[in-house]
Formats: sequence, C-alpha cells, structure tokens
Amino acid sequence: EPRIEGIASSIRVVPHFPKPGIMFQDITTLLLNPKVFKNTIDLFVERYSGMDISVVAGVEARGFIFGPSIALAIGAKFIPLRKPRKLPGEVISERYELEYGSDCLEMHVDAVLPGERSLVVDDLIATGGTLCAAINLLERAGAEVVECACVIEIPELKGRERLTGKPLFVLVESH
Ligand code: 5GP
Repeated sequence: EPRIEGIASSIRVVPHFPKPGIMFQDITTLLLNPKVFKNTIDLFVERYSGMDISVVAGVEARGFIFGPSIALAIGAKFIPLRKPRKLPGEVISERYELEYGSDCLEMHVDAVLPGERSLVVDDLIATGGTLCAAINLLERAGAEVVECACVIEIPELKGRERLTGKPLFVLVESH
C-alpha cells in the first residue's frame, strides 16, 4: 500500500523529546502534506464505512486532529475525551497510570446512548494506558467499543495487550 509508505515517511522522529531517551513520533509533519493527511483519513474511513459505527471518540489532544474528519465521513457523532476540568457538563472520569504519576480522562455522561457502536481514535499507542481509560469511559457510559484506531503503534511497549481484548487498528509502526 503506497499510501502507508507516504504516511510513515511523513512522521518526524525527534530524539530526546520531551525527555532524554524518548524518540518522539511527531505527526505535525504529516499534517503539512495535504495528500498524506487525506490518505491517513481515507484509510480509516475505508475501514470503518459500513460498520454501523455511530460514535467516534477522540482522545485529547491529537485524537482531535484525526477523529472529527473520520466521524463526518462515516456519518458518526464525535465525542471529545478530555483532560480533567475541561468539560462543562456532567462527566465520568477514568484515572490511568503513567511512567511517573497518573493522569485522567473525562467524558460527558450523556454523550452516548446505551449500545451505541463506537470507535476510539488517537494518534499513537505506547503503553496502552490512555486507550484503556478511553475504552472504560465509553463502556461505563453504556456504549459498545468496536475498535481502537491509531496512526502509530510502538510495538515494543505491547500496549495492544492492555486493551482488554478490543481490536486495535494502526497504520504504521514507530521507527
Ligand atoms: P500510552 O497511554 O499508550 O502510553 O501513550 C499514548 C498517549 O501518549 C497518546 O495520547 C499519545 O498522543 C501520547 N504519546 C506518547 N508518546 C508519543 C509520541 O512519541 N508521539 C506522539 N505524537 N504522541 C505520543
């Protein structure tokens, strides 16, 4: 698939960001090329069209870059999963562990209906903690999580194994 090659080569790898030893996968360079950006969205849309998905949930912040375009193209609603104290309505929260300390994601409780088929979108899966929290939020709100979708996977970190059996679809592996 030539589109995948273009996506892989448009991701900039920044060594030692934001900390020594981290090879940061920077998707902002992919966004600078409209053809590659469109191919990224198209590959997700091709996968999720016709799967009866009515919810796309995007993880703050980079899930907000890819999620809404996918949602519009497949005719689904978009739900932002946000960092604490950003959402004004009634929320549910999920705490998750980071390498140092913990973080939290929140979602409006009334954003989904019971049984709605949902897709979780983020730019990258590392340890899987973030996507695991996102899955828990949607399930607690009554939605069914059909799949998680990311542009990039760091396979060495085995985040896929933390997704409690939910399928994960990725376009490229980190390099
Ligand atoms: P995890 O919870 O899977 O360990 O980390 C994934 C989360 O951290 C995602 O929300 C992702 O945006 C962010 N993240 C971690 N490392 C990177 C990276 O190298 N590049 C980008 N773009 N995001 C990262």
